[in-house]
Amino acid sequence: MVADHPSSGNGPGNNSRTPTVQIGPKTVVSFHYTLRDAAGETLESSLGGEPSAYLHGAGNILPALETAMSGKTDGDSFSVELDAEQAYGEHKPERQQRVPVKHLSFKGKLRPGLVVQLNTSEGMRAVTVVKAGRHSADIDTNHPLAGQALRFDIEILTVREATAEELSHGHVHGPGGHHH
Ligand code: ZN
Repeated sequence: MVADHPSSGNGPGNNSRTPTVQIGPKTVVSFHYTLRDAAGETLESSLGGEPSAYLHGAGNILPALETAMSGKTDGDSFSVELDAEQAYGEHKPERQQRVPVKHLSFKGKLRPGLVVQLNTSEGMRAVTVVKAGRHSADIDTNHPLAGQALRFDIEILTVREATAEELSHGHVHGPGGHHH
């Protein structure tokens, strides 16, 4: 019967622990991630740097990743495998176009394979150079990770309730989020 007692485990040593919050709508999640391709090669990682943070339910991260995060809590580590469609979409060959070089923002020499920023009416977006000319370039407007199955290795650091201000802005404030 002792094990069923609701207060068991809440000894004096546990007073400093904040209550566990599960990831769900209106929570802010701080986490480390390592992004790998299908071959297991690391593409990106936050390990060794500042953790990422997102507001759950606000579309801040890939929907399939957000779904996998749901119900997890601080200290959880897990992997999420996404097919290309769940990640950054299939690679569409027709998404190639020729644009004036002056619409591209890049450092160094424009060359095939280079990921550059295309200045569009909706802001900058990452595109990949297919062929570079003097005045114009053929670019691939698929997301650089389109067509790839990806794996995220996730480590949840903290989960907390979002503030009213964060909810109204639709993003996280403070470490790993917006500073304004
Ligand atoms: Zn804000």
